[in-house]
Amino acid sequence: MRAMTTLFAGAALVTPDGIVPEGWLEVEGERIVGLGAGAPPRAADVALGGGTLAPGFVDIHSHGGGGATVVGADPGAVATFAEAHRRCGTTTIVASLVSGHFDSLAHDVAVLAELTDAGVIAGTHLEGPWIAMEYKGAHDPGTLRDPDPEEVDRLIAIGRGTIRMVTLAPEHPHGIDAVRRFVDAGAIAAIGHTNATYDRVRAAIDAGASCTTHLYNAMRPVNHREPGPVVALTEDPRVTNELILDGVHVHPASAAFAVRAAEGRVLFVSDAMSAAGGEDGAYMLGDLEVLVVDGVARLVDGGAIAGSTLTLDRAVKFAIEQVGMSPPGLGRREPGGAMTGAPSADGGWARSASRAGAARHWPAVAREPRARVYVPAAVTDRSRHGLLGKEQP
Ligand SMILES: [Zn+2]
Repeated sequence: MRAMTTLFAGAALVTPDGIVPEGWLEVEGERIVGLGAGAPPRAADVALGGGTLAPGFVDIHSHGGGGATVVGADPGAVATFAEAHRRCGTTTIVASLVSGHFDSLAHDVAVLAELTDAGVIAGTHLEGPWIAMEYKGAHDPGTLRDPDPEEVDRLIAIGRGTIRMVTLAPEHPHGIDAVRRFVDAGAIAAIGHTNATYDRVRAAIDAGASCTTHLYNAMRPVNHREPGPVVALTEDPRVTNELILDGVHVHPASAAFAVRAAEGRVLFVSDAMSAAGGEDGAYMLGDLEVLVVDGVARLVDGGAIAGSTLTLDRAVKFAIEQVGMSPPGLGRREPGGAMTGAPSADGGWARSASRAGAARHWPAVAREPRARVYVPAAVTDRSRHGLLGKEQP
C-alpha cells in the first residue's frame, strides 16, 4: 500500500537547478518524493493558484518578530516569534540573544535549549556580550566584556550543544581563545561588532571563525592601508558572510560588491527585532527602548539602528529587485536576465531535495553555496510554509 502523500500544484517551483514556471511537488511526511513540470500526475491536494513554491528560508540571526522578543526566553514569546517568521517563509530559525550579564544569559540559554529540543527553534545565537565598545550598535554598553574562558565554558555547558553560533570581537584579550572554545564545542564563531584589524581577523579565521555577523554593519570600515574585517572576511573561502538586505543596513551596490567578493558565501539574515511582521510603534530590544518609524527600528536613546523589521521573503525580494541577484541559489543574473542552470526532469531535483528537520543540519545549509529544496516538517497542515506569495520574481 502506498504511503500517504500530499501533492502541491499550480505554482512556479524554485529548485537548485532553475525555476520551473509551472510545476508540481509531492511530499511524504518530511520528504520530497517527486516533482516535475507541467500537469501533475494526479489531482492536486493543495492548489497553489499561481504562487511561487520555494525552499523554506533558514534564518541564523533573528531576535524577535510578531511583537515578541526571544530575549528573556519566554516560551510563549519564542513560539510567537518563530510563527511570525514562518508565516513569511522561514522554516528554520535560530534565536539570537543580545549582550547581557551572565545570570540572564545563563537563564535564557537554558530555556532556549529546551525550546530547541522541542523543535520550536533551531538553536541559540549569542550576539555578544564579548563585542567591541566602539561598534556596540544597539547593545547595552554596561554588559560588554572580554570573553573570560570560565564564563565561556559555563555557557557552553548550559547550552549542551544548542548554542549554534556566537558573535564576538576577536581583538579582546581572550577573543581568539573564545573562538577555539566555541568551535571545539560545535558552534560557529562569527566575527562582528568588532574593531579588529585585518591581521587579527585572519588570526580568528585560522582559529576556526567561519562566519561574519552582518557584514559592513557594526565593524571597522575598509581602509586602503588597513583593510580591516570586511576584506579579511569576504576574501577568505572559509567564511560565510551575513547581509541584512532591508534597504536600510546596506546599500544595494555594497551588497552586490560583497556578493562578488564572496561568491557563493553570502547568506541573508533578518537580524529582526520584535516589530518584524508587526506595526510601527514602541518596542524593546533587550532592556533598551526602540521606536519603529516607517519600518526602521532605532534606539530612542542615541538613534542607533536597532536591528531590523525584516523577514527573509522581503530580503529575497530586495536581492532580486535591487541587488540584481536571481534565484535559484540567488546566483548572478546573466546578461539579458536569463537564468543560469536549466531545469532537468531526470530526478536531479529529487536527489538534491533534502530532508526537512533542518535544525540538525543548519550549519551545512548555511554554508551550502546553492539553495536546497526544503519542505518544512509541518507542510501538510500548514500549506503556507515556503510560499513566497503571489508575486513571482
Ligand atoms: Zn543581531
